[in-house]
Amino acid sequence: MVDNLNHNWINGKKVQTDNTLKVTNPATNEVIGEVPSVTEGLINDAIDASYQAFSSWSKLTAAERAEYLHAWADNLLQKKEKLASIMTEEQGKPYGESLGEIEGCAQFIKWNAEEGKRIYGEIIPPSSPNQRISVIKQPVGVCALITPWNFPGAMVARKVSPALAAGCTVIVKPSSETPRIAIAILDELMATGIDNGAANLITGKSSLISETLLNDRRVSKISFTGSTDIGKLLMKKAADQVKRISLELGGNAPVIVLNDADLDKAADAIVENKFENTGQMCNGINTVLAQSEVKDELITKVIERVTQLRVGPGNQKDVQVGPLINSGAIEKVEKLVSEAEKAGANIATGGKKVENSPSDLFYQPTVVTNVKPEMSIAKEEIFGPVAPIISFDTIAEAIKIANASPYGLAAYFFSNNVNTVYQVSEQLDFGMIGVNGTQLSVPQAPFGGIKESGMGREGGHYGLDGFLELKYISLSLDA
Ligand code: NAP
Repeated sequence: MVDNLNHNWINGKKVQTDNTLKVTNPATNEVIGEVPSVTEGLINDAIDASYQAFSSWSKLTAAERAEYLHAWADNLLQKKEKLASIMTEEQGKPYGESLGEIEGCAQFIKWNAEEGKRIYGEIIPPSSPNQRISVIKQPVGVCALITPWNFPGAMVARKVSPALAAGCTVIVKPSSETPRIAIAILDELMATGIDNGAANLITGKSSLISETLLNDRRVSKISFTGSTDIGKLLMKKAADQVKRISLELGGNAPVIVLNDADLDKAADAIVENKFENTGQMCNGINTVLAQSEVKDELITKVIERVTQLRVGPGNQKDVQVGPLINSGAIEKVEKLVSEAEKAGANIATGGKKVENSPSDLFYQPTVVTNVKPEMSIAKEEIFGPVAPIISFDTIAEAIKIANASPYGLAAYFFSNNVNTVYQVSEQLDFGMIGVNGTQLSVPQAPFGGIKESGMGREGGHYGLDGFLELKYISLSLDA
């Protein structure tokens, strides 16, 4: 594909560098482009620009800011096919999923544009006749937004739009695996004529970029989506200046299928969620917990569906499962599956790389049965197209297995008993619960996790909170 996605955005200008990072297509291993690798000087330029722009951007009315955001979303929708192709080429996911992600970006941006108009304060009854207490909300300032490769468009839109709507200015740092789609999405924001410096994007060595951003007092906030290990590192460094930080980190989502569940509905939803984005989804199902009475029937139904999945390059028609992102990802999947097999698990289908494929990053959709909760395949985030199935007897046992994880992003369960639905939802230690379905990411709901899955929420009216400070004003009137 011919395009010019080889620049950064600093102070409203396209910037290129001598040193570059190569970007590859995981479906073919071919180099598809090069992006800048910024120097410390350029990172400082981006901070200068966003700091300068904050004074004007934050003073616009919410309605004025919303106009830029709506124009951005409209631009994305107009070019959604092209953007989806860029995403699939760079990240590997099937084209239909990329298209859905770009449409989702526009929905998130439009939601946040409108939500920015509802940043209400509060008037509080005073303690004395002459006091007046008000609470206002103000933008935190310059925000550094660090995003991962698995949803390389959605994560940019989900961070940039609430930050800008709240009146903050931003410096985006996308993953080095998928910088081109982030650049293409920022191009569409810059095309709206937004203030110079309100939105900047830099690519390059992540340790240099994060170090420089974290050491600069003009950067008020870090919003990070990525692995728990890097999130912890950033949290420790942010502590030096008590910088505001939001973290959307790893997950280990269980799906619990109870004896009274609709098994066809459960099997459909499990396969759809587990193999979306080739299993590389933070809120994707990691382990299937099947109650003993329905376990065998559920396994049969899941295998029936998994063996019909079509694997291949994401730009080919009807492909449902693409390549993994890189060799590290496929090695991790191979290791977890082989360790599980050695520990007594059974590979019911799949379990190997796909032979004769255009790159070495394709793995067969896999179902592993007879898995025990203590196996690494059940405890670690697999991030691949592998469904391990664990059997349990009682609901209490399933909840104990699920809650034993240090992660707490999403959990799912299937039951047709209304009492069970509430009781189990309340007992699961996760930030999001899907009951009888797996759809979670919508603009109006708070997406995010507890425990080692992070802090803060993206989406809904809660999504803007992370970009706002509360200020309490006490006015003493003349007596
Ligand atoms: P990652 O390795 O942690 O990278 C995420 C981002 O952090 C990338 O931009 C990366 O840049 C950057 N980074 C890496 N090392 C850094 C450092 N020392 N300092 C500052 N930044 C650094 O995660 P990933 O592999 O891209 O993404 C997959 C993970 O994200 C999974 O664990 C998944 O569960 C999680 N995730 C969570 C959510 C959620 O909402 N909770 C959503 C999506 C993904 P480079 O690529 O340039 O190194």
